[in-house]
Amino acid sequence: MQDVPAKLKSYQTYIDGAWCDAASGKTFQTFDPYTGDAWATIPECDAKDVDRACEAAWRAFDEGPWPAMMQTARGRMLRKIAGLIEKHAEHLARIEVRDNGKLISEMAAQLKYLPEWFYYYGGLADKIHGSVIPSDRPEHFTYTLKEPVGVCVFITPWNSPLMLVGWKLAPALAAGCTVVIKPSEYTSASLLEFMKLVIEEAGLPPGVVNVVTGYGAATGEPLVTHPKVAKVAFTGGTATGARVNELAAKTFKKVSLELGGKSPNVVFDDCIIDDAVSGAVSGIFAATGQTCIAGSRLLVQESIHDQFVEKLVAMAKTAKLAPQYQRILSYIEIAKGEGANCVLGGGAATKEDGGGKYFVKPTIFTGVDNGMRIAQEEVFGPVLSVIKFKDEEEAVAIANDIAYGLGAGVWTQSVRRATTVSKRIRAGTVWVNTYRAVSFLMPFGGYKASGLGRENGAEAIDSYLQTKSVWINNGPAGGNPFIMKTAS
Ligand code: NDP
Repeated sequence: MQDVPAKLKSYQTYIDGAWCDAASGKTFQTFDPYTGDAWATIPECDAKDVDRACEAAWRAFDEGPWPAMMQTARGRMLRKIAGLIEKHAEHLARIEVRDNGKLISEMAAQLKYLPEWFYYYGGLADKIHGSVIPSDRPEHFTYTLKEPVGVCVFITPWNSPLMLVGWKLAPALAAGCTVVIKPSEYTSASLLEFMKLVIEEAGLPPGVVNVVTGYGAATGEPLVTHPKVAKVAFTGGTATGARVNELAAKTFKKVSLELGGKSPNVVFDDCIIDDAVSGAVSGIFAATGQTCIAGSRLLVQESIHDQFVEKLVAMAKTAKLAPQYQRILSYIEIAKGEGANCVLGGGAATKEDGGGKYFVKPTIFTGVDNGMRIAQEEVFGPVLSVIKFKDEEEAVAIANDIAYGLGAGVWTQSVRRATTVSKRIRAGTVWVNTYRAVSFLMPFGGYKASGLGRENGAEAIDSYLQTKSVWINNGPAGGNPFIMKTAS
C-alpha cells in the first residue's frame, strides 16, 4: 500500500457483492481539478482483479438468479434502482463535480434525469420476446428466443461518468446480462458511491454488477480480452475505441462504440439569429466543450457572418471556464499557428479570470478553413472554430468533410431546408433549431469514426440480446442423414 495522507477519503472497489482492495494492495489518488488537490484514493486494479470480477460476473450469469429471474421481477428491480438514484442524485452529482470539475448544474441535471433510463428499460424488461415463425415443412414447430448475451464489460470516460454507465447498465440488466464496469481513472468515485447507495441498497445478487477501478490499458485491456466476456460497450476517444475494437475482435466479442466527434453546427441566414447564437454557445461552451456532441465547427452563412460573430463573442464572454488540459492549450497554439483569428479567449485562465488550477478560457477562432487541424481534430474543450459558407451546397459539403459523424445542428426557419439538410448530413443525430437534446427514447450513436451501434431507445436492448432458433419436429425423424435437411 502506498503512503497516503490520512485526510484523504479511501475507497474500495466492488466485486462479487463485496467491498475489497486491489489484489496488489496498490491505490492511486483522484484530484479535484478546481483546487488541483488530491481528495481520495482509489484501488489500482490489474489483470488479477479483472479476472476475479469477470469470473464473478460469469458465475452470476451461469448459475446465479439474475438471468433466471422472471422478467417482470427484473423490471421491478430496475424501477427500484431508479428510485434510489432519485434519492441520491444530488449527492452523486456533487461527487462527479469534485472529480471532473464541471458545473454542478450540468451534473445535477444529468443525475436527476438518469432514473428515466431505469424506469424505461425496467418497463421493457418483460416485453422482450422472440416469435413463432411459420415452418416450410410439415409437423415442425419453429420459434425464436431472445437471450442475454452474457457478461458485458463497460468502459467509460470522465466527462459524464454515471450518465454514460446508466445508458448501458439499464438495457443490459433488463436483458438479463451481468456486468463489469471500468470507469475513467479520473472519475471513479461517483461509480463507487453509486454501487453502495444504489446497487447494493437495491439488493442485486452478488456478481451481477462489479467494478474494477484502475488505469486504462492495465485494467481495460485484460477486460476486453477476457475469455468470459461476451460484449464490450465502450465510450471514449476514437483512438482508444479502435484499440478496443481490435482486441475484442480476436475473441469475437460483440462491440458497441460511442466515440469522438467534431460536429458541425450550421447556421443559415434565414434562422432566428438570437436563437442560433444561443444554440452555438450551448453547443460548445455549455458543458465546457467536454462532450462528444460539442458543436465545435460552427458553419455560418457569409451574409450574416460578421453580425453573428459579434453577438456570439458577446454571449460567450458570459460562459463559465473549463478545466484545462495541456491538450486544449496545445490546440489553441496549433490554431494560431495555422493562421486562424482568435476573437475570444485563447489561453489558460488565471485565478483573476475566475479559473481554478486547471482551467482554460472559452475560445473562439474565426477565419478557419475546414482543412485546418483545429477544424478536423477533436479538442474536447471550449474551443470553437467558425467557418464561413456561401450556400446550402457548400454548407453540406463542409459539414460532411470530416472523419466523424456524431451530431449536427441546423438553424433555419425553412421546413424544406430543415428536412433536406438533415437528410444530407452524415451524422447519427441532427438537431434542428435546438442542440444537445438527448433522451432515453431516442437512439444515439455515431456514423463513420464516431462509433458502432446505438444507445438509448428500444433498439438499444437488442445489443444485449442474441437470438436462438428452436426447431421441434413433431413427425417422424429419418431421411438421408448425409444430406442437409431442406424443405424439398
Ligand atoms: P479515453 O478514450 O481516453 O478513455 C475512455 C476510457 O477508456 C477510460 O475509462 C480509459 O481509462 C479507458 N482506456 C484507455 N486506454 C484503454 C485501453 N488501451 N484499453 C481499454 N480501455 C482503455 O477518453 P476520455 O476519458 O478522455 O473521454 C473523452 C472522449 O470520450 C472524447 O473523445 C469524447 O468525444 C468521447 N465521448 C464519446 C461519447 C459518445 O457517446 N460518443 C460520450 C462522451 C465522451 P483511463 O481513464 O484510466 O485512461
